[in-house]
Amino acid sequence: MVAADLLRARAVYMLGWVFIFSQLINIAFMRYAYGEWTLDHWIAVGAISVIFTATHILRYSKAFMGFAAFYSLLMLVGILATSLPDQTGIHSAMLPLLVAGAVINGFISDWRLVMVYGFSSLAIVWYLYAMTLGWPVPAGIDPATYQTRAFMRAVQTTIAFSMVSAGLAVFSVSMHHMFNLLEENIRLAQQADSAKTNFLANMSHELRTPLNGVIGMARLLKRTEMTPTQEKYVDIIDGCSTGLVTIINDVLDLSKLDAGKAEFHFASFDLKAMLGSLVALNRPAAIDKGLLLELHWPDDMPERIISDESRLRQIANNLIGNAVKFTADGRIDVMLQSRPIKSHDGMFEICLFVRDTGVGIPEEDVSRVFNRFEQVDNRLSSTTSGTGLGLAITQNLVEKLGGRVHVQSQLNEGTIFTVQMPVREDRGAPAPEQLNEKEIPTRNAAADLSELKAAS
Ligand code: ATP
Ligand code: MG
Repeated sequence: MVAADLLRARAVYMLGWVFIFSQLINIAFMRYAYGEWTLDHWIAVGAISVIFTATHILRYSKAFMGFAAFYSLLMLVGILATSLPDQTGIHSAMLPLLVAGAVINGFISDWRLVMVYGFSSLAIVWYLYAMTLGWPVPAGIDPATYQTRAFMRAVQTTIAFSMVSAGLAVFSVSMHHMFNLLEENIRLAQQADSAKTNFLANMSHELRTPLNGVIGMARLLKRTEMTPTQEKYVDIIDGCSTGLVTIINDVLDLSKLDAGKAEFHFASFDLKAMLGSLVALNRPAAIDKGLLLELHWPDDMPERIISDESRLRQIANNLIGNAVKFTADGRIDVMLQSRPIKSHDGMFEICLFVRDTGVGIPEEDVSRVFNRFEQVDNRLSSTTSGTGLGLAITQNLVEKLGGRVHVQSQLNEGTIFTVQMPVREDRGAPAPEQLNEKEIPTRNAAADLSELKAAS
């Protein structure tokens, strides 16, 4: 449903329920005041049933104009029906309802119905005034004053009501115009955004193919007889093009995530082994810088879980890679925690902490680190490579998996990145060596995602 219709529908439901609620209060008070069940009670019950039915028909038909016309008619008839038998002239208790009719028309219908309703109401006001001329003046009231007062009531109601209707008609036009404009702009923006995403995805895909050729050739060239200078040049070609492929892969990843085309494959895997191998992979870089890199695995942690292994690896690798990159001395600890999610049997929330004793992030920059292409100015930034996409991808992946990531940091002291994510524990899984491809319980990714999101 478009936003404008949603607003109209909400206005209708809200008014419907306000009406029903107020009539229930009215029934209770009438019962208390009159001491018995009267015809007025039945009228209120009838009105509640009519409004309830009409509101629910509108839910399916979405005929807002029709509903507004019906509601207006009901109100005008109601005002006449309560004013005439009591000979009250312009029934002042009903005036708020008269104004409410104009408001409803302005919101859920359009200016034309506001005007039709406005003129009909004024006709009723003057008709009621005309009727008062023929009614006997109540005892004890000066007939001249009574008539003048009745006339002035009609004039004042006309002035007030004309102003309200005209104002609401103008407001209705501009409100609905704004909504249409907004919807159109959102549609255009989405179109432009998806065109950009597609362009990025296509470009990065196209760039990757020739670059892989460059890398392949550079590696073949390395195997040939070369002078030391030539070897140095080829190493530079290899290093640069490998770096470029990483950047292109990141851009491709992000544009796929944006376009909702990223695929998630849920299967059973050994989280401990995965993190162990990741730590081992990053350890040489850490040792090169004189850093200690350790995985701390708690005993109560389920080892086999069902989630997307390659995405979790990507997430953890980005965080560990950053920790190594932005730490000059000290240590990096990869820690885990888990707790069962009570309402979902077999579901766990895992917490992955990557803590370093590195340069830290200045307080004012902490909120920016997950932005795309955002790199914080620190004393290592001039010496480290990167494009500032790693954490944007990490956050996007974590959220797609139903989790959240946040960071705490102290400048020159260190940083902790925390990923919290719901996963399913794989209980009756066979030992890894007994697993063959077919037995891996691959689950429906979409169903798993919605279940994970519901659990988080
Ligand atoms: P890329 O990951 O694309 O190669 P990058 O590592 O610079 O480049 P992100 O991983 O997105 O980009 O990180 C963004 C910025 O956040 C980094 O440039 C760095 O300034 C800051 N940052 C990230 N992790 C840490 C950390 N562990 N300690 C200090 N600063 C960090
Ligand atoms: Mg990074």
